[in-house]
Order: sequence, then C-alpha cells, then structure tokens
Amino acid sequence: MAARRVSSLLSRTLSSSLPLSLRKGSSCGRGLSRFSSTASAIEDPIIPNVDIKHTKLLINGQFVDAASGKTFPTYDPRTGNVITHVAEGDAEDINRAVAAARKAFDEGPWPKMTAYERARIILRFADLVEQHSEELAALETWDNGKPFQQASKSELPLFVRLFHYYAGWADKIHGLTVPADGPYHVQTLHEPIGVAGQIIPWNFPLIMFAWKVGPALACGNTIVLKTAEQTPLTALYVGKLFHEAGLPPGVLNIVSGFGPTAGAALAGHMDVDKIAFTGSTETGKAILELAAKSNLKPATLELGGKSPFIVCDDADVDKAVELAHFALFFNQGQCCCAGSRTYVHERVYDEFVEKATQRAKRRTVGDPFKSGIEQGPQIDTEQFEKVLRYIKSGSESTAKLECGGQRFGSRGLFIQPTVFSNVQDDMLIAQDEIFGPVQSILKFKELDDVVRRANTTQYGLAAGVFTNNLNTANTLSRALRAGTVWVNCFDVFDAAIPFGGYKMSGIGREKGVYSLSNYLQVKAVVTPLKNPAWL
Ligand code: ADP
Repeated sequence: MAARRVSSLLSRTLSSSLPLSLRKGSSCGRGLSRFSSTASAIEDPIIPNVDIKHTKLLINGQFVDAASGKTFPTYDPRTGNVITHVAEGDAEDINRAVAAARKAFDEGPWPKMTAYERARIILRFADLVEQHSEELAALETWDNGKPFQQASKSELPLFVRLFHYYAGWADKIHGLTVPADGPYHVQTLHEPIGVAGQIIPWNFPLIMFAWKVGPALACGNTIVLKTAEQTPLTALYVGKLFHEAGLPPGVLNIVSGFGPTAGAALAGHMDVDKIAFTGSTETGKAILELAAKSNLKPATLELGGKSPFIVCDDADVDKAVELAHFALFFNQGQCCCAGSRTYVHERVYDEFVEKATQRAKRRTVGDPFKSGIEQGPQIDTEQFEKVLRYIKSGSESTAKLECGGQRFGSRGLFIQPTVFSNVQDDMLIAQDEIFGPVQSILKFKELDDVVRRANTTQYGLAAGVFTNNLNTANTLSRALRAGTVWVNCFDVFDAAIPFGGYKMSGIGREKGVYSLSNYLQVKAVVTPLKNPAWL
C-alpha cells in the first residue's frame, strides 16, 4: 500500500437520540468495538505527516499515565486502523485532575492575576496554534475523518479566532453599581465560578474545545475537560501548547476516557462547581441528573437537534438547493444543528427534488485527505450502522429514495449521500436525529402550516429560512422556536454569535457575550452610606 504524505497535498456543530427500537448496546467501553470486522482499509490511504507526541492525561501541567495504567485505542475512521493508544482516565484520574484544578483555583495564580495577564497568555496560545495549524488540522482529520480542507481552511482559523475573541473579553468583564432604595452603596462583582467540568463530543473536537475552554479561562476559572473517546488527540496537543504559552499548572487538565466512567465521575463530582456538556439529549439528561444529585452544580447543555430548513416559493431554487445540501451534508451530516428536515414549497418542490438529487449524486466521497473530497467516513461503526438503520427505515416507508441508500464502496465507514423525497412528519427519518448524510425533503403549502410542522419537535436548536421576501423572513424568524435562525445562509459560526437550544436541545448559550455568564458568579456587595444626604 503506497503511503503518501499529506504535506504534499496541502494545496487545498450532538449527538444521537435513538428510539429504543434502533438503539444498540451501551456506550460503555464502546471504543473497543468501534470498528467491526467488515470495516477494513480503503485503497491507498494517505498517511498524514503528523508526529503524535501526546497520548497521556494532562494533569497539573504534566502528561501522566492513568492511575489504572490502562489505555484505549483511537482509530482512523477511514480504515479502522489503530492510530495510537491513549491513557484511559476513569474516576480516580478525574479525582486527581479535580484536585489539581481546585488547588490552582483556590491558591492561584490564575484567578488572582490581572485579567490582562490572562488575556496575554490566551493570545500567546492562539499564536502557537496558528504556527502548528497544518499539523493540528491533519491530526483532526486523521482522528475524526472530516475533510482536511475543512479542518485546515475553516476550523483551525475559527479555533484561533475564538481564542482571540475570548482573550478580548478577559479584561472587559466587570460588575455594576446598583441604585438601591436606601442609604447603601451597592456593587456587583463578577467572579469566576471555580472548577469547571467540561465534556465534549467527537464531531468538532477542536471547535468544541474552544467553545468551552475559551470563556471559562477568560473569566478566570480552572478546568477539567474530558474529550470524546473517539477523538482524544488534538485536545492533548493544544493542551501542551497552552502550557508553552504560560498557562500555570492545574488550570487546564485534560482527561481522555469514556463517558460512563470518566464523564460521569466529572459530572457527579462534589468539588466541581460547574458542568458544561455537548452531546446527545439522552446523555445530557444523565449529566443534569448527576449534577443535581451531587452538589447541584449549574449545567450548560448543548444537545441534539432536528432543524427545519424552509425553502419558500420565491426562492432561487439553484441557490436553495446548494444551501440545503450544505446545511445537511456538511461534516458527513454529523452536526447537531444539521438542516435535516428540508421543507419545500409545493410550487418549487419538483424542481427542488430533482436538483437536490443531482447535487447529492455529485457529492465527492472518499479519503478526506484527498483534495476535492467533500465527504469522508462516519466516525465509527456504531454511528455508521445507526445511519444505515435509519436509511432502511426510510426505504421501508412511503418516502421515495431518490439516490444513495447504501454504504459507499465495499470497505470502510463511508455512506452514499442519500436523499429521500415525499417524507412525512410522522416518519422516523423526520423525527429522529440521524447524524449522517441523509436528506429528508418534505412538501408544504401554507406558511402557517410549515411553522406549526417545523415547531412540532422535541428539539429547538436551529432553523434555516430561504426566501427573497423580507416579510416572510421576519415572520418565520420570529415564529420558529429555535436558538438560531439562519436566513438565506446556514452554519454561520462567528465567535460572537450565541449558539444553543430551545426545548430539549439544551440549556444556556455558548459563544458570544452570553457564554460568559455560564462561567461567572455575581456577588452583591452592600455597604451602608454614612451620609444619606449624599445618596
Ligand atoms: P454520541 O452518542 O454522539 O457519542 P454522547 O452524548 O454519548 O454522544 O457523547 C458525548 C460526550 O459525552 C463524550 O465525551 C462521551 O464520552 C460523554 N458521555 C457519554 N456518556 C456519558 C455519561 N453517562 N456521563 C458523562 N459523560 C458521558
């Protein structure tokens, strides 16, 4: 097998909510069975030019083995080959990491240094990431399977931008002077909460790291972060860069490991003051329960979605097709906010279905390191099989399979870009989060009706609206019950734009100014005034 180096090719969003009938196994230890025997190597996979240096837990500024000595494999989703073995943290390692974060918070220097000094360290870190961005992008693609071009040209620059953004906030966080009905001087202090526990998913390992770590550090907290078992590598790499940038030991601790062991220990820890999570709604509920049953720590949850993408009859059909395609198929369909219910007005429906099908057939699938590839493999066997079960369920319904519907090729975890038309609201493929490259197209006639149908879901993460009519855009964006409404665009993830869900898509907002309140306590300080005449 000829191994080519990716460096020669540099020219170029949790979360499942399966009905019981489709769920298989528990996630405990599933990393060990992430690849079935049928998942074997694709032809001639490009071997990235990455030197994997960090595979241990990052606790108190040091890379250390798990207390148990255990490791687990992390796989290349293109082939099922083991990339490397990583330390497997569990409850004991979470205890060690929390103790380090506690000490770093209680004794400093991080929460006590000036906000400007904290900002300088975050900026130095962002510079280091920029210097290593090609290698980091290659590592992200290797561990996750996403197109290298997407990782390198879009996600790494956004990662850097997010840390610039939060560094900018660090010295602008302050309280208020409050007028009271009496002879008192009242002020509020905005203080860090303490030790933040953070649990991130596998679909955007670096971006999710930035959404969580950026605001927590800007506000002066210390952190224990648990990576997803499928994608532990890039967080360890950037964790090292953070320490090179001058982050004091114990401020950012990174534990790789599994959800029911390390993740649950973190969410239920008595000495963790706050928990933030991105992933499935089912796991989000478990985390909220652990938080409530332990020390009632506040939780920020960014969970699943089933976002409507509404194409009105005045839309430019070609543009709508392209945007709806992107809204669903981006990142192999593995986005919590994917536009996975494409509602199309009856007047443009037939043309839209025909063109959406042609576009999906043109989608390039293959080795994500290859230039021009739009779609790589699904993350693991569990997700791959789940998506195929949903496709089967759609095929057995009265929906029409327009294209795709099978695995792509005979090896690996690739799935053909799949389009269903004539989808009805009560079908499983229109209700559940599929988390794969499967577009469901539904027909509508009246705006009132499509609003009602779009809102008839347990989720409320995002929505897309495609129209040339300003009144329609304004009406729909107010009527849709979702944390983000993208009008004539989709997946715009600027650092300043808040993101989060209504209903069972989550609690709280990440990014933007709203994210800071997740990591701050407000203290009211009340002092009597000696001379009330000067009130
Ligand atoms: P998915 O099914 O898409 O992998 P999950 O919600 O299960 O999504 O996983 C997202 C993150 O949550 C991962 O880091 C995973 O290890 C973690 N996780 C899974 N189960 C639990 C749990 N019971 N407690 C805490 N964390 C968990």
